[in-house]
Amino acid sequence: MTNAVETSLALAVQAIEASDEEIALACHITPDGDALGSMLALHLALSSQGRKSIASFSEPFVVADHYRGLSGLDALTPPSEYPANPGLMITFDVGSIDRLGGLMPSAESAGDLIVLDHHVSNTRFGTINVIDPNAAATGVVVRRLLSMLGIPLTRDVAINLYAALICDTGRFQYESTTPDVFELASELAAFDLPIPELSRSLFEEHRFAYLGLMGEAISKMVLEPESSFVWLSLTQDMLSRHDCTLDEAEGLIDIVRRAREAEVACILKEEVDGSIKVSLRSVGTADVCRIAQANGGGGHRFAAGFTSHLDVDATLGVIRAAL
Ligand code: AMP
Ligand code: MN
Ligand code: MN
Repeated sequence: MTNAVETSLALAVQAIEASDEEIALACHITPDGDALGSMLALHLALSSQGRKSIASFSEPFVVADHYRGLSGLDALTPPSEYPANPGLMITFDVGSIDRLGGLMPSAESAGDLIVLDHHVSNTRFGTINVIDPNAAATGVVVRRLLSMLGIPLTRDVAINLYAALICDTGRFQYESTTPDVFELASELAAFDLPIPELSRSLFEEHRFAYLGLMGEAISKMVLEPESSFVWLSLTQDMLSRHDCTLDEAEGLIDIVRRAREAEVACILKEEVDGSIKVSLRSVGTADVCRIAQANGGGGHRFAAGFTSHLDVDATLGVIRAAL
């Protein structure tokens, strides 16, 4: 942990301890395991101390089914009931303010805004920015915050932090998997975590219909060996023919990036409104965060994304040019 991170964490602790009202927590739109896990961990930890908080994220207010093993999902509040002018608001895994979607105005009006994150591309939009790009997950930052607040872990908090950790390290496989990560995992695992159940629901279980979609999708992958690039276009037509939703395909990029001939892998997911959600992964030296940032998105060096309003061909053109 660098001095800057430590200093900002101390400021965050002060702000949380000084607050005597309900604290407003928010994670990024279409939340993943780190966004939900890190937010719910602090939500449940505050509640264990008798502190009031409210936790939410933007519409579409839907938690993908594979996150059902997390704790405290029933303690989430719909964004329609979120305070418009929170005295203290805390964001989780949110790299830029637009990633709050419909909760963006609350962040703009918040008295104090603590940004807890680990995206290298973070735009530091808070009044207190705790950004640690060396942290494997935002959950790691939350763990440190809890220590400094003197709030002990509970099993439910540990479940959420563990989910954040395994989602963002790809189950201890990515470069972010440092000795610290294993130390935290060991501390969390001591809470008798449902490790096999979490692994299966988060990573290894799909509806049979989705496996059919995967088969079609994989058969349509395109390899461009000359640019060390592999890509896949997932359309609304494919989804509806297999009776699947976009959130079920969150892990599909992990299949595409297996192609040995390609350093950069990409999925172009067509949203209901016709825009394209682009997911990028690098298994080499290419920095896909730069490509995402150049197109209004963000992320990490090896995993990044952006939303395109061009068609698939034009979007691919932009990515190829950047490569
Ligand atoms: P994904 O491909 O959706 O799993 O996202 C990979 C990484 O890129 C995550 O760390 C996201 O936070 C980030 N990311 C994805 N889409 C966007 C976006 N539209 N804007 C900013 N960051 C994004
Ligand atoms: Mn995330
Ligand atoms: Mn994260």
